[in-house]
Amino acid sequence: MSLMPYRQKCPHEYIGSDGYLIDSHCHLDLEPLKSGLPHILQEAYAAGVHGFVVPGVHPEGWPRISALAVEHSRIMPAFGIHPMHAESMNDQVCDHLLKCAVQGVAIGETGLDPAYEVSLVAQERAFREQLRMAVTCGLPVLIHCRRAFQRVAAILREERAHQVGGIMHAFSGSPEMAREFVRLGFAISISGTVTWNNAVKPLRIAREVPLEHLVLETDAPDMTPQRYRGVFNRPAWIMETAQRVAEIRGIPLEDVARITTDNVRRILRLASGSA
Ligand SMILES: [Zn+2]
Repeated sequence: MSLMPYRQKCPHEYIGSDGYLIDSHCHLDLEPLKSGLPHILQEAYAAGVHGFVVPGVHPEGWPRISALAVEHSRIMPAFGIHPMHAESMNDQVCDHLLKCAVQGVAIGETGLDPAYEVSLVAQERAFREQLRMAVTCGLPVLIHCRRAFQRVAAILREERAHQVGGIMHAFSGSPEMAREFVRLGFAISISGTVTWNNAVKPLRIAREVPLEHLVLETDAPDMTPQRYRGVFNRPAWIMETAQRVAEIRGIPLEDVARITTDNVRRILRLASGSA
């Protein structure tokens, strides 16, 4: 089996011309997005969102994500085991992940989250396993981390993850921690929480992290922006986040869109200039 990552041989045209956005983290394979997908995608295109990174969370979902990526050229698959499902990692799953991973643009989402009732020993084992695979395959990593930033940074260092880099998804840490992850080769992702009325840390991230290290995401169907709270989130609403970042930094929306999209292309090593 060839280990050449999918993105290097992928015929798909992911991204529109400058000014279009990529949702760097959305669960289009999960309900309620899955059953309304044609409409969800149309709505996203109309809003200028032309690329969608869909991360895996559990082995059972990987075939569904593969099928979506085959059906829709702008869906970029990633494969991984979420910390909440860390206990599903074993040798067999690891072999399966390797087969899937090389068809994706990244490995993930993986990481650490003490809020889940899954032992941190199991979470750390699954996380390290996935980081090693990413380094072996030359694939970037999508990281889920809440309240375990120091530990995650230490593990990234130990596993030499700077060789592949990746994205700190829906980052909820401090600007100081963000700088540490940037030094480790990771981009910092801002989600719809930056639009929430009670947002504090995301505002600091949006203001203080250099734009060349920021990417945007919805984490749909979760983290709905303030204006639509109470309804499930969808990729079109990444515009709310882009707009808020533009306001906070006092720069044009077009600059936020162009630079964060270029950042996703760079981090995930996507073909550029297509479509
Ligand atoms: Zn997610």
